[in-house]
Amino acid sequence: MADPSVEVRLGLSFQRVESQANGLSVWFLGADGSQTTVETSLLIGADGVHSPVAAFAGCKPPVDSRLVAHRFSIADAPGPEIEAWLAPSSHAVSYPMRKSGERNLVVVEPVGVPHGAPDSRDWNPRLSDFLTRGDYLGAWPLLTVDADDRLRSRERIVLIGDAAHAMFPFAAQGAAMALEDAWVLASCLATKATIQEGLAAYAATRLPRIQRVLKRVSFHRRVYHLGWPLSLARNLAMRVRPEAAMRADLSWLYDWRAEPIAPPL
Ligand SMILES: Cc1cc2nc3c(=O)[nH]c(=O)nc-3n(C[C@H](O)[C@H](O)[C@H](O)COP(=O)(O)OP(=O)(O)OC[C@H]3O[C@@H](n4cnc5c(N)ncnc54)[C@H](O)[C@@H]3O)c2cc1C
Repeated sequence: MADPSVEVRLGLSFQRVESQANGLSVWFLGADGSQTTVETSLLIGADGVHSPVAAFAGCKPPVDSRLVAHRFSIADAPGPEIEAWLAPSSHAVSYPMRKSGERNLVVVEPVGVPHGAPDSRDWNPRLSDFLTRGDYLGAWPLLTVDADDRLRSRERIVLIGDAAHAMFPFAAQGAAMALEDAWVLASCLATKATIQEGLAAYAATRLPRIQRVLKRVSFHRRVYHLGWPLSLARNLAMRVRPEAAMRADLSWLYDWRAEPIAPPL
């Protein structure tokens, strides 16, 4: 819905930011080489794991995990809602993208597999079939950032989404957390008396939740990539543990609800 207080400008690339007496000057570069400057009281960096805004805020660069996510699209592959295959140091997840039966497949492997695509020989037959006939979409190096540093409150710059807390996609939460960040930040800025108070409230609200999600992601990494014989214990536990109990373990994650935003009267 169009909002007259919001102006969307596309095709501008953030270049740099400078502090002024009462705010910030932010420089953008257009596709035609032209420069645009915006005067603002707050800069929100929602610019992904390689965030140039984070670099300007003095944050440490992302860390390469030496894991890579290979992505495939498979046509005409009906099946369950979500399928996962676990192996020592690797795992794969597949889910439907469209009603046509097309599926997305993500295979996480250590860096260094020849030809940039995983070798399908040792996988389960259904996964091997996907790897053989799927369209290879490319490899995403998996990077992480120091969320404690990036989420802390700064005077006039704030980070959200992957810029603030890029995480491994092992709990499928990166985009979900980016959306939560945006909502909470809007709420904090709308309800607090000053920008500084709003940013402090945002950091205080988001940090514990993001830390908890990151802990869960690390747990998934350890459990998914277990080697034999610990993998046998994992498989047994997954077989015997009721689905409802597994779901209840994660209610803190999936049952999060956005509070309505109520600006001060
Ligand atoms: C293989 C894989 C599978 C995933 N699966 C899931 C999943 O199932 N569920 C889930 O929730 N998450 C998943 N994620 C994570 C999810 O994709 C990210 O967490 C999410 O895209 C982060 O959103 P974002 O808006 O913060 O950053 P991005 O999506 O990276 O967007 C950043 C934007 O900033 C722009 N930008 C960059 N530099 C500049 C600049 N200088 N000036 C202006 N604009 C700039 C970019 O063009 C881009 O549009 C997965 C990730 C991977 C790699």
